[in-house]
This record gives sequence, structure tokens and C-alpha cells, in this order.
Amino acid sequence: MSAVTFTGCRLVDPASGTDAVTSVTVDGGLVTGVGERGGREVDAAGLVCAPGLVDLHTHLREPGREDAETVDSGTAAAAAGGYTAVCAMANTDPVCDHAGVVEQVLRLARDAGHCDVYPVGAITRGLAGEQLAEIGAMVAVGVRCFSDDGLPVRSARVMRRALEYARTWDAIVANHAEEADLTEGAQMNEGELSSLLGLTGWPREAEEVMVARDLTLAAGVGARLHVPHVSTRGTVELVRAAKARGVRVTAEVTPHHFALTEEVAAGYDPVYKVNPPLRTADDVAAVREGLADGTVDAIATDHAPHAPEQKAQEWVQAPCGMLGLETALALTLTELVDEVVSLPQAVALLSTRPARSRDVSGHGGPIVPGAPANLVLFDPEARWTVDPPALRSRSRNTPFAGRKLRGQVVHTLLRGAFTVRDGRVRGE
Ligand SMILES: [Zn+2]
Repeated sequence: MSAVTFTGCRLVDPASGTDAVTSVTVDGGLVTGVGERGGREVDAAGLVCAPGLVDLHTHLREPGREDAETVDSGTAAAAAGGYTAVCAMANTDPVCDHAGVVEQVLRLARDAGHCDVYPVGAITRGLAGEQLAEIGAMVAVGVRCFSDDGLPVRSARVMRRALEYARTWDAIVANHAEEADLTEGAQMNEGELSSLLGLTGWPREAEEVMVARDLTLAAGVGARLHVPHVSTRGTVELVRAAKARGVRVTAEVTPHHFALTEEVAAGYDPVYKVNPPLRTADDVAAVREGLADGTVDAIATDHAPHAPEQKAQEWVQAPCGMLGLETALALTLTELVDEVVSLPQAVALLSTRPARSRDVSGHGGPIVPGAPANLVLFDPEARWTVDPPALRSRSRNTPFAGRKLRGQVVHTLLRGAFTVRDGRVRGE
């Protein structure tokens, strides 16, 4: 690898507090200069150079559902979206509840080489909510976060033990926030529209009572809690109040929860079916306030690929979930930047803060000499239209098909090597 200098870019690096037009030199896998020249020059005028994006919530589906996604296809999609690190959720088959699956996913990710993968371990064996998974053994192979995502830990006793256990290693527990007694057969947000459509409602309280319980338990234990996919005003308020009293909590919001409302369900197109469900304009306003005032730490995708024949079933039968990795940056730029958050805040929400919240070192900046060159360069003004067949994911279930977005990834670099160059994923 020889030196490359990106010239004339706007360097936005929240970790060092930099927002300036400059040049960035990369050599031997590291950032070697800022504001200097050297090696081959790549004209980056008009591009933003930021730390590579970090996703706290990605479903790579392998092992078990390779028809929907693989580690290779999912991490290629991640690189295309500007990501250099993703946290892979544990609800695979077999479940990632012991070190063997963690090591398998790490090996597959290394072989693919598109993006660093940080496996999330299950909280309980087989996601069954009863016996704790092999948390210590998974910590020993590098796992920092535990989640039964998709399924809540229903027992307060088990959740409390998980928090106590995680605290031993200062690890993080991310409980899927859904009180399942309140969501029996639930299909979409509970309200006038669900009654009108004849679909069983999914009350906000199902999320909020679980978050309230978990915040209470985490505060008591002194452990780190992460709240995934916040979807309601009430949850934003719970997290804000908990942070104010010093609870060690972080929270994420997905692009679909800040960009879409329940109204899209009216056509019964299951591409809009997701857990937790899309909510109302008031909830969208509240999660946007949470992103703006720092209550929410991260924009996370909950990238949830489903094979076409699965997702194309009738609404009631169709599985929950949406693609996210290839549209998150552009949705953030289109929907939030300038109106809700500044560009540096957006980069912090997509990279710096998620990296810190998950103890991911070498990602999220700072972009300074000596740091690993994990970078994204994107054109913040480029317009493009979401075209499902053009996505790198193996699945097609994006709710944003046909949507015109602003902001396009031009280059992604993982330890100085291009994983995306001029908009093309390496190996394509
Ligand atoms: Zn998920």
C-alpha cells in the first residue's frame, strides 16, 4: 500500500472537534497526515471525509438464513453504505449464545474483508429467556454487548442477573424493549388507524413499560443498558430522565423510525411491517428531538433482510424488518441534517458515539496521524433514487424504494484499503 492523499475535502471528525476543508493522507493502513500532501493525490473537493460509520444493530443472518443475507453480502452492503464496523445481532441459527458462533462470524467477516464485525452475544441460551448464555466465554473472545434482540427478556429476575453478570466485565446489555403480554398478535401501531385497517394494535406502552423496568434494574445494579430502536415519545422521555439521574444508559433510533409514520401501513404492503412498528408524527417529532438534544446516542439501522418469498406474504404472515445499511447515511442527510442536527452531529450519531458506546476502538475517529484509516468520503449533495435491484444486500425489503435521497458514498476505507472506490464495492 502506498500513500494516498485526499485533497480539498471537508474533514468532519467529532472526536477531534475538526470541521475544516483540508487534505487527509493515508499510508500503510493508518492516517499519516492532515493538511499535508504526499503520495498519490485523489481529488476530494466537495466531499465530506468522516470516520467510517458504525452500526450498533445489524442482522447478517449467517449462520442459518443465508437465503436472506450472508456475512459477505451484508458487510458488502455495509461498506456501500459507508460503514467500517457493524455489530451483528445474535438471532442466527444456531443462535450466537456461545463462543463458537462468535468465532465463526468473526472468521467469515475477516474472509470477506468488507467491514469489521463485532458479534453481539445472546443474553439467554437459544434466546429462550430462561438460562443465561455463556456470557463470560463470549467476553473472552471479544464480545462487549449482549442481546436477545427480536425477543424480550421477559423475566425481571433473568434480566437482573444478566445485568449483574455483564457488570463483571463492564459489558452492555441491550434488551429488546417489548412487553410481550401487550403485543399478542400485534401488527402495527395501536391507534385509530389500526382499528380502521382491522390490524391488531401494538401499544406504545409495550415498549415503555419494558424500558422503564430495564432502566430501574440497570440503575439498581449499576450496569450498562442499551435501548435499541426507540420508537415512542414516552421512551425518549424515559431515557432522557434516566440520563439526567446518572443511569448508565445509551439509546438508538433507526432511520425508519425518524423518517416514516404509521400511515404507510394503509396499503397493507408488508415492506412497512417492522418491530417496533412505525408510529405517529408526534413520536417521529419526539425521536428527532432526542437525536438533536443528545438523549439518543446513535442512529442504528436494525438492518433486517428477509428473502423475497418470506417478506412478500400477506401483512399478517409477513416477518417484521427492513433493510437499512445502504440508505441510513442518505436518510440522515436528507431528513435530519440542517433541519434537526448539524452535519458534525450527524457524523457523531452515525459513527463517533456508537463506537464509544460499544467500546469499539479504532473506529469513530479521531482522524489524526497514527489512527487506523477507517474512513468514509461522501458527496453530501449528490442526489440518487433508491433502486432495490441495485442494492448489495441479498434481500430487497427496503421501505424506501423509489425515494429520492441526498448524499452518496464515494469511497469507504478499512484500515487504509478501499472497500468502496468511486461508488463501487471492491470485487464488483
Ligand atoms: Zn433487530
